[in-house]
Amino acid sequence: MQTLSIVLVEDDPGDARLVQYTLKYSRVKPSLVWLGSLGELKEHLVDQATTPDVILLDLNLPDSTGMATVTGCKALSPETPVVVLTGHDDMEFAVRALEAGAQDYLVKGNLDADSLLRSMRYAIGRAKLEQRLVLSEERMAAAIEGAKLGVWDWLLPSEQLISLSERWLTMLGFHSGNSTLPAAAETWIERIHPEDRAAFDNALASHLQGEAPNFQCEIRLLHRQEHWVWVLVSGHVVGWDAEGRAQRMVGVQQDISERKLMEQRLEELAMRAPLTGLSNRRHFMQAIDREHGRVKRNPGLPVSVLMLDIDHFKRVNDTYGHAGGDEVLKAFSTSIRRQLREMDMAGRLGGEEFAVLLPDTDAVGSRRVAEKLRQAVEAMCVTLDDKSVVQVTTSVGLTRILPDDTRPDGALARADSALYRAKTGGRNRVEVCVEVCPLLDEESGSARLLTKREDEC
Ligand code: GH3
Ligand code: MG
Ligand code: MG
Repeated sequence: MQTLSIVLVEDDPGDARLVQYTLKYSRVKPSLVWLGSLGELKEHLVDQATTPDVILLDLNLPDSTGMATVTGCKALSPETPVVVLTGHDDMEFAVRALEAGAQDYLVKGNLDADSLLRSMRYAIGRAKLEQRLVLSEERMAAAIEGAKLGVWDWLLPSEQLISLSERWLTMLGFHSGNSTLPAAAETWIERIHPEDRAAFDNALASHLQGEAPNFQCEIRLLHRQEHWVWVLVSGHVVGWDAEGRAQRMVGVQQDISERKLMEQRLEELAMRAPLTGLSNRRHFMQAIDREHGRVKRNPGLPVSVLMLDIDHFKRVNDTYGHAGGDEVLKAFSTSIRRQLREMDMAGRLGGEEFAVLLPDTDAVGSRRVAEKLRQAVEAMCVTLDDKSVVQVTTSVGLTRILPDDTRPDGALARADSALYRAKTGGRNRVEVCVEVCPLLDEESGSARLLTKREDEC
């Protein structure tokens, strides 16, 4: 074992001799340096390459008295364990010495070799632990800061949040200096977006009931400036009562607004068809599925479907090139989107094949929309980069989703055959699905609109 190196800071020669004498007859033979003041300690530390293992410190020195001696000593050698030597034998004094930074204290009158050595060993062990704790706290603080995490600490029985870190508060536009800062957890929980409240409650319940090892959920919280902030909240129970009920939870919160925005954009991109920005086939088919389900549950619901195909589009490509064709496809999409309501959906199912879903639209209404779309396309003039102006027409097939359609895309197939008739019948026209005509006729009471070749464009 290495020799214990001790520095004794003591101005009273009698007390110093007592310590020297006590240690002289101990089992271990430590090396002991005796200094008379903090000033001498400072000089000694500067001269030495290594710091002592422990400092035995008298509090009343010529250049410092009381607790200031402990802080002064700690300032000179922050990591060296300190055992205070004092004439006082009271608890309060001891606590103050420890708070000032000492690791232990001894009463001078009771000194013996064993207790002195035990105290020094204890001080060394305690200093090491304290250093590890400081290091680990620094590491944790850096990680929390680096990850931009807000920290919360929640006493469940009293519903009090005992601590919310500054970053936690900043995420929601608050800071610890706000005089009206609520401490009750419920006040903060009320800031959860109504649509996310169930997710929060479920995640919390499943953790508290022991089903999930952690409490974790993604929710929106109301910012002080009345906008929503997406956050990822995670935590777990750290204290239970004798009956095993959760008493305290600790966790972190991370602002995930940027990630959510990206996800939203990606989601939107994933449902948009390239070039036109209309819904792609997959997204359109999901909507058809949904509407098919609605009609099945409520057979009286009028939901119409249109199929559109640009007439002689090959000629556009042949005359103006593929890029010219693309410009026309874009203008076509914008033009039909402009004619529709917010709740309608226009989709690009393939090349120059388009479909429109018209919820809550009966035969008369959908026929009117189909005609409006046909006219809008007919009136459209697309000016290309080379200033040439292109005009196209479109054929439209119309049907409705029927409650006895066995497949959700049954209506699309019917609209397609109506479209085929529009093509073979001369193009630039709207055709209504004949199978559905009588049905529409009875319901709408408008036979005139439903005759195939009437009201021709
Ligand atoms: P019809 O009146 O019978 O519909 O005649 P059409 O010439 O339009 O015939 P069809 O619908 O069969 O032709 C579609 C053409 O559309 C063929 C294909 O080269 C072209 N096309 C498909 N997708 C794109 C695209 O993204 N951009 C361009 N520029 N052309 C496309
Ligand atoms: Mg075509
Ligand atoms: Mg086509």
